[in-house]
Amino acid sequence: MSTTGDGTRAVRAGLPEPEQYGPTLPGPVFAAHFHLSGEPVGPYTYGRETNPTWTHLERAIGELEAPGEQVETTVFASGMAAVSGVLLSQVRAGDIVVLPADGYQALPLVREQLEAYGVEVRTAPTGGDAQLAAIDGARLLWIETPSNPGLDVCDVRRLVAAAHAAGALVAVDNTLATPLGQRPLELGADFSVASDTKGTTGHGDILLGHVTCRDPQLAAGVRRWRKVVGAIPGPMEAWLAHRSLSTLQLRIDRQCTTALALAEALSQRAEVTGLRYPGLLGDPSHRIAVRQMRRFGSVVSFVLADKETAERFLAGLRLVDDATSFGGVRSTAERRARWGGDAVPEGFVRFSVGAEDPADLLADVARALDEAVR
Ligand SMILES: *Cc1c(COP(=O)(O)O)cnc(C)c1O
Repeated sequence: MSTTGDGTRAVRAGLPEPEQYGPTLPGPVFAAHFHLSGEPVGPYTYGRETNPTWTHLERAIGELEAPGEQVETTVFASGMAAVSGVLLSQVRAGDIVVLPADGYQALPLVREQLEAYGVEVRTAPTGGDAQLAAIDGARLLWIETPSNPGLDVCDVRRLVAAAHAAGALVAVDNTLATPLGQRPLELGADFSVASDTKGTTGHGDILLGHVTCRDPQLAAGVRRWRKVVGAIPGPMEAWLAHRSLSTLQLRIDRQCTTALALAEALSQRAEVTGLRYPGLLGDPSHRIAVRQMRRFGSVVSFVLADKETAERFLAGLRLVDDATSFGGVRSTAERRARWGGDAVPEGFVRFSVGAEDPADLLADVARALDEAVR
């Protein structure tokens, strides 16, 4: 499957060998334990350790993260379970971890937890590869690119080379790009981590996360951590995620194409400032993004005059839900400053482009903007 296109790979990813009278994708296996006599060895023993529905999904994600390669994926109950699964399984008291200063809004909580365990945490912005200056002596470098919600991009290959030379492991939070937008392991990272709550599953109805690594020893540490904390996905969620992967290429291609069209349309509007989309020619992220991304994602960020203008714009949209999260087939947008966790202006809007007809969506946005600034 390594030579096929993304769409072909997505519809077949992780499917078991065809069996006469069997379903294409076996249904979710609801089991706390499995029949097991004699020595307690796998593959299936107890439901906190393994489940056949996870196995299919983990193979599927692995095939998308690193086509044709031998990798190991561990699925988690949420993106944060996956993030914690890497950080808390790999670092010890006295270690140094480098986090992005502008990453996901729960990272400051992770930082507090790491510091409570005696880990030194350094932060630096994603843009300009500023994390390079903080790597010396680190055990692990955590990268988020494109960053959420600022959409800055860093050069993953360059940061990996510096981190590895300094003896540090590298994890990339690939949530925004999805495995079809960027393949962190090919760029040299040790861990590709994502919240599959977002674009990877894309329907806004489940929480899920995963970690993929090449090194079996690193993978074993992550798996062991999942067993220790029990942050396991339910079989139904895992099955829904696998089913959703089959349309990943269709969804992401449509969403990325429309996101670029929206960014281009917004670039023509005088009332829009601070417009960011890595796929936009002239965006500060574009030069590096084209070298490491295969698709530029479904999120467009921009700034309106103030809180009131942004609120009027969001309320005026008819095809776009005012909601957090991103990457789903239904467009969502929100005024990001309402959460208080990100360093963004009051009028900052994070817009997640869905799978609506592009003309409908662009017309809705243009009308809501006209009304908001009138
Ligand atoms: C949403 C998100 C997470 C956390 O994922 P959950 O599934 O909500 O736990 C982590 N990183 C990024 C970049 C995210 O957008």
